[in-house]
Amino acid sequence: ALVTRFGPSPTGFVHIGGIYVATIDQDLARRTGGRYLVRVEDTDQSREVEGALEQFERGFTYFHLAADEDTGRGGAYGPYQQSARERIYLTYVRHLLRQGKAYLDFATKEELAAITQRQQATKLPTGYYGSWAIWRDADPADVQAKLDAGAPYVVRFRAPDDTGARARFTDAIRGPLEAEANRNDVVILKSSDQSPRLPTYHFAHAVDDHLMRVNLVIRGDEWISSVPVHQQLFDALGFEPVTYAHIAPLMKQEGGSKRKLSKRKDPEASVDFYIEAGYPAEAVLYYLRGLANGRLAELPLEQALAEPIRLEECGVAGPLVDLVKLDDIAADHIATLSGADILAAVRTWAERFDPELRGVLDDEPELALRALAVERDGVENPRKDLKKWSDFRPVYGFFFPRLHAAVTGPDDERIAALGVDREVVQAVARDFAADYRQLDDGQEWFEQIREVAAKHGFARNAKEFKKNPDAYPGSIREASQIIRIALTGSTRSPDMHAITQALGRDEVLSRIEPLTK
Ligand code: GLU
Repeated sequence: ALVTRFGPSPTGFVHIGGIYVATIDQDLARRTGGRYLVRVEDTDQSREVEGALEQFERGFTYFHLAADEDTGRGGAYGPYQQSARERIYLTYVRHLLRQGKAYLDFATKEELAAITQRQQATKLPTGYYGSWAIWRDADPADVQAKLDAGAPYVVRFRAPDDTGARARFTDAIRGPLEAEANRNDVVILKSSDQSPRLPTYHFAHAVDDHLMRVNLVIRGDEWISSVPVHQQLFDALGFEPVTYAHIAPLMKQEGGSKRKLSKRKDPEASVDFYIEAGYPAEAVLYYLRGLANGRLAELPLEQALAEPIRLEECGVAGPLVDLVKLDDIAADHIATLSGADILAAVRTWAERFDPELRGVLDDEPELALRALAVERDGVENPRKDLKKWSDFRPVYGFFFPRLHAAVTGPDDERIAALGVDREVVQAVARDFAADYRQLDDGQEWFEQIREVAAKHGFARNAKEFKKNPDAYPGSIREASQIIRIALTGSTRSPDMHAITQALGRDEVLSRIEPLTK
């Protein structure tokens, strides 16, 4: 059984890459009968933002990524928030100090800067190591004197001395790897003049992953170069090593090159982007699973969501995030849903992002269902007109009298753009209204338009009209567009007959009425 964890830092920004990694965490844990935990990594309090945890929770709930164990749900291995684990870290720091595997370092900022400068000047690797590490083998009396004087210090890990050794490990994605052994005495506990006294990432993740019985660490590949020091820490602490899987970051195409999806530059880097637009969580998850394992992108959505993700199939190069592709996936997915399911999802979305729409849907659920049934329910190839829930208003808003921007009269610019004389527009509207028949059949409905158009001298088709534009007020197309614009506010819409059925006779007539005056 795999125990995995996701370690968000509460910085007020939830990156879509986090959803990507957590999806893999959750999948591997579920599939092996293990556990998936969320551990809040808040040891860098300067980066912390008010409300960040709630924001994280909202994002992860939207994508069905709630953990099996976390601060809210609890669990036997908590607390699941690093800032609440101070005493646990201190215990392990003391343990290393007593064994001489760690030491107090009183070096000042200025001293550290001077060391780096001298290393750079002589082209040596920078860092706190070997004879550069001034407090590594300090005289205990000097240490005591500093402590007595109340000088601030950090605690550093004493890197093993076996210079020339190589670090070897097997990454679950990249396979066997080898690197130079770590020589740096990394800081494990931050400065003593800060409260609370918190560990660094290196140390905290080692202690936590061990104590929380995590056996597979899936994390961003920016950490791959830290594995040698992490291995040394696990070893010094006497912990079983964990397996690491380093995931390549999500990328974005920019001109001819690829770069990491950027929190600063790309709105789609943020989880909120998907939630605010109202992309269905399933469509986004399906897309992300396909980025992780190309094989899954070939399967239908339901099946791909159920199929395992395999780490061996994750690429070493970061996959490209392409919103056009996501839009297609989301439109295909929504087209498979019933009107009732779509209505339920749009209502939930609108509650937070479009309260006016929510009110309208609450007041007129029947109309909403009739609107959504147009070219959808019981049709073999339903319309793919919604990619996200925020599309509902621009696409279906006209059905609702309160959201419909009614034409104001024959001079309304949408009508005027047809180029038909206003008197003719009026006459068409009058005749259409006077003889309006609510018919069951779309064919007959079109007949009615045809009759009115013929009566007012419109050409029977666009070709005929084009040949001799001065002879006609327009073609049958313009005649029917007069009615379409009045009913929908737009020159494009689904089947007109279905729309009139959904609207009902009174509403149809009241929308045409302004054109008659
Ligand atoms: N809090 C770490 C980060 O934000 C998590 C890394 C990890 O998963 O180990 O990068």
